[in-house]
Amino acid sequence: MVKDILENVQDVKLYINGSFVEATSGKAFENLNPFTNETINQVAEGDTADIDEAVRAAKAAFKGEWGQMKVKERLAYIYKIADLIDEHIHEIAPLESYDTGLPISQTKKMVARAAQNFRFYAEMVSARLVGDAYPVDDEFLNYTIHKPVGVAGLITPWNAPFMLETWKIAPALATGNTVILKPAEWSPLTANRLAEIIDQAGLPDGVFNVVHGFGETAGASLVAHPDVQLISFTGETTTGSEIMRNGADTLKRFSMELGGKSPIIVFDDADFDRALDACTWGIFSFNGERCTANSRLFIHEAIYDKFVAALKERVDNIIVGDPLDEGTQIGPLAHKTHYNRVLSYLDIAKEEGCDVYSGTVPESYKSGNYVAPTLLLGADNKMRIAQEEIFGPVMTVIPFKDEEEVIEKANDIRYGLAGYVWTKDIKRGHRVAQAVDAGMLWVNSQNVRDLRTPFGGSKHSGIGREGGYYAFEFYTEQQVIHVALGDHHIPQFGKKK
Ligand code: NAD
Repeated sequence: MVKDILENVQDVKLYINGSFVEATSGKAFENLNPFTNETINQVAEGDTADIDEAVRAAKAAFKGEWGQMKVKERLAYIYKIADLIDEHIHEIAPLESYDTGLPISQTKKMVARAAQNFRFYAEMVSARLVGDAYPVDDEFLNYTIHKPVGVAGLITPWNAPFMLETWKIAPALATGNTVILKPAEWSPLTANRLAEIIDQAGLPDGVFNVVHGFGETAGASLVAHPDVQLISFTGETTTGSEIMRNGADTLKRFSMELGGKSPIIVFDDADFDRALDACTWGIFSFNGERCTANSRLFIHEAIYDKFVAALKERVDNIIVGDPLDEGTQIGPLAHKTHYNRVLSYLDIAKEEGCDVYSGTVPESYKSGNYVAPTLLLGADNKMRIAQEEIFGPVMTVIPFKDEEEVIEKANDIRYGLAGYVWTKDIKRGHRVAQAVDAGMLWVNSQNVRDLRTPFGGSKHSGIGREGGYYAFEFYTEQQVIHVALGDHHIPQFGKKK
């Protein structure tokens, strides 16, 4: 079945106003298979004209049927989307692995999580759409309602495309907005599978639109469009700055989920084996192309040698393979350009004086974008390989002496997305977690997250939070209604005494 799906992948069109269409310009770009670097298909290259068309459709849907629809009816569509995603996991996951190189065992979980996210926001909206109501001195009743903002522009990266797209789409639609999604150029397949699902669910035309294309053209037009009220962006920090500049004239509401270089701090009293499992998984899952990856490992000097030896053994044994094989732990990176960028950091590491320790990539996979799992040993926190996001299966390893030193080093970076602390001393666990400048900290855990919690970072890792009630707030406009219950005093300006 999987073979059939992959052999029959069609060219990717735009999805505008309920129809799959070519780009107005007639242009298309190539989509490559990261496993072989052969062409998978052609992708319609949307630009300003297509964004204009999609915004027109989304605006009309917002003013029309979708905007007028009863909440219960709207949420029934959201549940339907969740059910359809669940029904099609076994075909969406291989498509995602085929397009991105992410191992199939991991994409299956991400697709299931996407379905849960739709249900989560359907439930939240039904519970939270009407906010607090309170009487004031028996004279007034004040209440707050949450209304959709309007047309939402969602711009997403290639590293976990389906899940990250639905992360934004689910709250945006559940709260009643209409959507234009601009997916990343390197991973277009599952965005269109989702468009098919949404089409099948029967949402009115124009509620959900997908415009493929390049960031500088399609993305920039979406950001600058005066009829788009908000932009939710996930991607690189520098792109985030560019988008904020570009959206300033139209005073957009922004959510920014940006890059990271997250520390994992392993104290000498940590549960050694569990810390090792978490540390290995946290950098090598998702091929290391993960914003919350623990890409900077700080190990206490007392266990440095033993921990590094154990890490090397893990690196030697990680299963590097075909992303569509169930047993594969690391697949090829999403694109040749990114692959070359990650490899360039191995050269930088050598130039900076690090010992580069890598596992191996089987000879038969050499045509894919494979980077072997790698440790950069003997590093210093000031080095580029400790300060810059590499975004591959590469972990920078730095020893430390004491708590004060490690907190200072963990914070000595422009990013602040996530952090991990391993210690059996629970007081120290809390203390260090609270001292690390990052949006999300885990103590004695890997990246396990409940859907209710805020997701996002501080410093150059982002502005605002996604997930939980935080996304609900972002995708809604609050309106407070003050109603007089009686004849309270009103100043009588200009009235003759
Ligand atoms: P990117 O910034 O290159 O691209 C992301 C998206 O922005 C793409 O769709 C691209 O076409 C678009 N884009 C590019 N230039 C644009 C412009 N001028 N105007 C509008 N849109 C534009 O990022 P990427 O390489 O696709 O993704 C990897 C990055 O994403 C990493 O830095 C990673 O840490 C980050 N990321 C962050 C999170 C998080 O939640 N904080 C999650 C996943 C990925």
